[in-house]
Amino acid sequence: MPLALPDGTRFAVAITSDLDAQAVWMGTFGADSPSYLSRGEFGAEVGVPRVLDALARHAIPATWCVPSHSLLTFPAAADAILQAGHEIAAHGVYHEPIHKMERDEERRLMDVQLAAHERIVGHRPRGYRSPSWNFSAATADILEEYGFAWDSSLMARDFELYRPRRMASLSLEEGNVFGTPSAFVEVPVSWYLDDFPVLENLPRSVGMVDTEGVLRRWIDLFDFAYERVPNGVFTLTVHPQTIARGHHLLMFERFLEHVASHDGVWFATISDIVDRWTDD
Ligand SMILES: [Zn+2]
Repeated sequence: MPLALPDGTRFAVAITSDLDAQAVWMGTFGADSPSYLSRGEFGAEVGVPRVLDALARHAIPATWCVPSHSLLTFPAAADAILQAGHEIAAHGVYHEPIHKMERDEERRLMDVQLAAHERIVGHRPRGYRSPSWNFSAATADILEEYGFAWDSSLMARDFELYRPRRMASLSLEEGNVFGTPSAFVEVPVSWYLDDFPVLENLPRSVGMVDTEGVLRRWIDLFDFAYERVPNGVFTLTVHPQTIARGHHLLMFERFLEHVASHDGVWFATISDIVDRWTDD
């Protein structure tokens, strides 16, 4: 079994919180009006303490994926996250669209974000989560070059760690050919386990759906994984500016209660989970 869980546990749960703050509006949506920026400010200054409080109630160590723009704009939020004992991972510079970038620019932005992590966090991150969960053809090479232990942006598995394979070639008519597996470990994500698209009012789409349906989905996915994927890993992604709105926070707390009520659940940071994983 490739994942050696701590004694007495049977299932790993990684709660991840992406502190996109103002960067997501500027970098992903090209929106820098005071109204959009105020939503990011809410996430950093109101959302972070609320999420930290919800995690503390169950003594949950979480992984926070933070663009360096958020580290530099809201250093007090980063400090509160670190003081609470959580992990901080890389999440781009300004939530940039790396899938549209040239390799040299993507590498330059990797240098920029790592310098900010060293300055604010005190060390380089062990893991990376790409902004908007997109990769360019160069991203895997860059993550290997910079020695990342893990990535958490891809979706070729749902509840198991794996080593993502590059595509050696793409052909609409001849089919695609897989290439070599990556040196880093992938901790898969899912749009079904992300609060942001389904609950936010976005420039190009309106989520704002009823929380009962979202909670039901998250619970069903957890129950499925807990029962049917032995030694599995469940990864949930929340965003402080979204999940910390009152009705969402109550849903989040109910979900954590549900998970914590199961025997043998191991809440852990992604790095701690990856450290217990070995290849078959
Ligand atoms: Zn993000």
